Amino acid sequence: MLFNEKYPTAKEGEVVEHGDYVLDHDADNCYVCGRLTHFFERNAGTYICSEECDEELYYMFFMNAIEK
Ligand SMILES: [Zn+2]
Repeated sequence: MLFNEKYPTAKEGEVVEHGDYVLDHDADNCYVCGRLTHFFERNAGTYICSEECDEELYYMFFMNAIEK
């Protein structure tokens, strides 16, 4: 589910309960799928648009950690 559908009432600068996301003033492309989003993941330092992309992001980070 897209974060902007899951958190339709989120205010700018507000941290939402899913992971460590904040609704940013600026929008940028989702790191995983490229969709424009205001939701910024503070741990990874990247924009992520949805729960599905969030899972994919953590999978990518997990695989990176194993390779190192
Ligand atoms: Zn995405």
